[in-house]
Amino acid sequence: MIINHTEILIVGSGIVGLAHALACAKRGKKVLVIEKSLFPIGASIRNFGLIWPIGQPIGDRFERAMKSRSIWLDIIDKTGIYADKSGSLHVVHSADESEMIEEYVQTLREARLDAMFLTPEKTKIVSPKVNGNALLGSMWSPYEITVNPREAITSIADYLKNTFQVQFEYGVQGIYVNDHSLICSDRIIQFEQAYICSGENLELYTPDKDLLRVKLQMMRTAPQQYQWKLGPAICGGLTLLHYDSFKHISSLQQLKIRIEKEKPLYIKYGIHVLISQHGNGELILGDSHEYGNTLDPFISEEINTLIIKEINRIYLIPELTIDQKWIGIYAKYPGFSEYVKKIHDDITIVNGLGGAGMTLSFGLAEEVVSGTYREDN
Ligand SMILES: Cc1cc2nc3c(=O)[nH]c(=O)nc-3n(C[C@H](O)[C@H](O)[C@H](O)COP(=O)(O)OP(=O)(O)OC[C@H]3O[C@@H](n4cnc5c(N)ncnc54)[C@H](O)[C@@H]3O)c2cc1C
Repeated sequence: MIINHTEILIVGSGIVGLAHALACAKRGKKVLVIEKSLFPIGASIRNFGLIWPIGQPIGDRFERAMKSRSIWLDIIDKTGIYADKSGSLHVVHSADESEMIEEYVQTLREARLDAMFLTPEKTKIVSPKVNGNALLGSMWSPYEITVNPREAITSIADYLKNTFQVQFEYGVQGIYVNDHSLICSDRIIQFEQAYICSGENLELYTPDKDLLRVKLQMMRTAPQQYQWKLGPAICGGLTLLHYDSFKHISSLQQLKIRIEKEKPLYIKYGIHVLISQHGNGELILGDSHEYGNTLDPFISEEINTLIIKEINRIYLIPELTIDQKWIGIYAKYPGFSEYVKKIHDDITIVNGLGGAGMTLSFGLAEEVVSGTYREDN
């Protein structure tokens, strides 16, 4: 049996594992990342690629997202990966959505953040393909960045290898972890500190019974023609029900009641719509949210049809030929924005970032590794 030694062991090469590898390597530590797959296939390559601070509540979590954003910008600069820094547009097509977004823009401005309410006319100037039918305006935010996660995750691993001599071992599965050692499929790894970043694979430790799996459905269009650009990433009124940043808005409950009455299937399947664009011009469309510990592995056409119907209601996509459909699964710790637990002096679980792992991981890893992390969300 091979025995490896390392100062820092990271289990999992998704965005959470990479962020912890970077935070440790920057502090001069010797880091080994193990990954059970031969290449990344987890949630971190199946997402929209949106770094989305505006979805985080103002305060510590927004600051964490902005810290992540600054680390992303540095990585983008150093690796040359595709990145669109056009921000985001929340488009609203009903009076209650509009009221909510106007109230939220006011809160942002009081916090001295740069967001603006745009009239329908200005919205159409910023994003001409927003559906003008019943359009009441939009919230523009400059903070959001889109990357292509399929490219970014591989490039970040290469960057860590080349710049910080982080070692990566693919096809190595951790099976049992305890007291400075991890028993793997083909070796034992001894470490001083381990970070278990295993995403929806919860087998390595006894998960808190409240750590849930969430299944999402996603689609990708063929590349848009003639170099057509989306500009700001788009989301619609249903998103107002979804992100924690809107939780304190007084009219949220009213909006929820209306949507539950008018669109019960959208509530049942946790559908809200987001549109992002990657470097070859393809649009990423989604998504739905189904919760459970064991989730069926199938794509539901009913859900995809509902997603497309909602997208058509808010946005007129020039080329809507779908060339890929997939599901993604992440772990979520309901009521919390992450799950960080020290199960031993030398072993920390970092998981449960839900739908915001691309947005929060780099900032969270800085806090966890520097010892400043507080569970207060
Ligand atoms: C469809 C979808 C859309 C999303 N969109 C966005 C978005 O636009 N913006 C955003 O901020 N967030 C988004 N998210 C959320 C984000 O993708 C996740 O929060 C994040 O990817 C979770 O990262 P992770 O490293 O925990 O998990 P993963 O990416 O799943 O990585 C975990 C890795 O650990 C490996 N592993 C597991 N167990 C072991 C073991 N025992 N031994 C060795 N290796 C192991 C797995 O093989 C896997 O590669 C989205 C998620 C989904 C599913």
